[in-house]
This record gives sequence, structure tokens and C-alpha cells, in this order.
Amino acid sequence: MRPERFSPMRWSLPIGSLAGTVIRIHITFLLFLVWLWALFFRQGGAEAAWQGTTFIVLIFFCVLLHELGHVFAARYYGVKTRDVTLWPFGGIASMKRMPEKPSQELVVAVAGPAVNVIIIAVLALWLGPRLNTGGLAELDSPTLSMAAKVLWANVILVAFNLIPAFPMDGGRVLRALLAMRLGNVRATELAARIGQAFAVIFGIFGILYNPMLIVIAVFVFLAASGEAKNAELNAMARGALVSDAMITEFHSLPTTATINDAVDALMRTTQTEFPVVDVAGRLRGVLFRDAMIKTLKERGPAIPVLEVMATDVPTLPMHTKLDKAVRYLMEKPRTVIGVTGADQRLVGLLTVENLGEMMMVHVAQPSADLGPRHASG
Ligand SMILES: [Zn+2]
Repeated sequence: MRPERFSPMRWSLPIGSLAGTVIRIHITFLLFLVWLWALFFRQGGAEAAWQGTTFIVLIFFCVLLHELGHVFAARYYGVKTRDVTLWPFGGIASMKRMPEKPSQELVVAVAGPAVNVIIIAVLALWLGPRLNTGGLAELDSPTLSMAAKVLWANVILVAFNLIPAFPMDGGRVLRALLAMRLGNVRATELAARIGQAFAVIFGIFGILYNPMLIVIAVFVFLAASGEAKNAELNAMARGALVSDAMITEFHSLPTTATINDAVDALMRTTQTEFPVVDVAGRLRGVLFRDAMIKTLKERGPAIPVLEVMATDVPTLPMHTKLDKAVRYLMEKPRTVIGVTGADQRLVGLLTVENLGEMMMVHVAQPSADLGPRHASG
């Protein structure tokens, strides 16, 4: 499970929905199924491949139940889940948000593996002493051996999900436990570090034993960094206003400017994008460096900036809450937000780099006043 802000939901196919939660399969999960199918086929021909396929579908079902465990636990705390995506190493339920209290997050995180433990218990009870008679090979009936295999697969699922690294449930459990003592941001940071250490260990094991682990290692590493950044941003954006983070010293171009003027400004400043402002001080558009250079090369320096600037630039009033701007910039990181004051006049700019700088300052001295930032070289 994972809050939706960084949800990697592209590359996944919807297969149905349950009580308002869409169930999706990630492409890598399908690839994993194909890989397993081929493995079974190579080992034992068509019959083994069929058996294997049934097994995979059952595991897939267990993973889904695991995710629904998270979903229903979260719903108990009033958090809805938009979709569940199945990955080769488990599932990710993209919740609208995580429960704020560490104790609730702990319950939600544990609810998934708990479902697998229940499946294990039920299968173990059903198989009874037949399970102890010496391994899978001696379970003659295909139904029995299948049940035993599903049981062991669930044991592996639990073990894997309790590895203390994001995005595995163990990472969340660890974070929740740490958060009870350290607060959310420090806990996430520490949990992310531990997760990354595990990712490195996965990577090394992957190189030595199984390339599949390398893929997982990379994913775990990225997920851990994303998670830490996410928590940092949320903590910072909470309570702050757009005006706290915006750049207030920047060079803007008049509507009469040409590409030549813009190139001049590009050379003289450290800015890479220039707001184009009319005589009333209102934002008309933003000229990005790439567009500037392209125009200079293809059409020459005399072209008016009005012809080349981007006009679909969003603006926010300066007293808007910062989280709104953060959300916007997370979705469209290559853009600029114009910040407006009285009479719609442009008073500031906000970019992803800005937020990044503000975050670094915030991390360096969490208690520091969040004053307006200035563009600097
Ligand atoms: Zn889980």
C-alpha cells in the first residue's frame, strides 16, 4: 500500500472493482506470470504448465486478499482506497492518504500479512498431519499438493512482505513503530535508510543468485527515496503558504520583448524560464529556455516572445496553501506556477527546484522561519 501522490499506476490494467476500489494488474506482474509459465513448461511440458498456471492464479488470489486486508483495515479508519495494483512481489493499494496515527498505520500495514497468516492456518488445519509426512513429493493427490504449495507460497509472501523496507509492509510497520517515538518525518527518514540498506543487500544477492532480485532492489530503493521525500514535503507544506516558498526576485520580460532580449536575460541571470508580464503587471505567459534556444536557431533573434512563450501557465493567489501547489508540481514537475497578489499582479514564481531548496533548508533547520526565497546563483 502506498499513498496516491507517487502512485506508479501507469502500465497497469484494470480487471474489475470491489466496493469502489478498482483492482489492477501491473505489467510486471503479467511478465512475472509469463516467466513462471515458461519455466514450468520447460521443466515439465504442458501438464506442468497447466498446474503451474492454476497455482499462479491461486497465488494471485491470495495476494489480492492480502491487499483487501489493507483496504478494509484502512476503511475502518475512514480512509478510502482508489485502486489496488498487483505487482510480482505483492500488491500496492493506493490509498487516498495513510491514517495519520502511527498506531492506525501499524494496524493497516499488518492487516495484509495477517490475511496470509489466516490462509496458512486454514490450509494447515485442512491438510493436517498429511503436511508433516515428508514434503511436497509425497502428497500424491494433485489437490493436496496444490494446497500445500499454496500454503508455502503464503509463508513466503508473509516473510517477503515483512522485510522492513518500503514498499513492503514491513517498511510501514517499521515506520509506524519508529513514528511512535520519533515523529513522522524522522521515522520515515530512518525507515527509508533501512529500506535502502536492504535494497543494496537485495541487489548483491540478485547479482549472485537471481536477476529478478535486482529489479526488486531498484524498485525498493526508489520507493524508499520517494517515500522519504514525500513525508518531507508533506511536513513542510502543511501550514505553509505559497507566498512562503515563492521566488520574489526574478527577471521578467515585457510583452514587447524579442528572443534577442530573452537570450540577453538568459545570459545575465541564473533563471531558465522567464515570465512575460504586461504593463498592468499581469502574467501573460512564460518563456522556457528550450523554446527560446529552438526559436533562436530556427527563426532568428527578432521573433517576439509573445509568439513563443507558453500560455497555459497556472497561477495561484499568494495566500493559497502550499500543499495545493506541491500537488500540482508533483504531477507536472517541468512547469512554473505564477503567484499573484492584489489586482492579479505577478508577485512571485514557484518551481520544483524552489520546493527542493525550501526542503533542504527545512531539513537543515526544521524550526527556521519559512520566509520568501530569492533566486540566487
Ligand atoms: Zn501488503
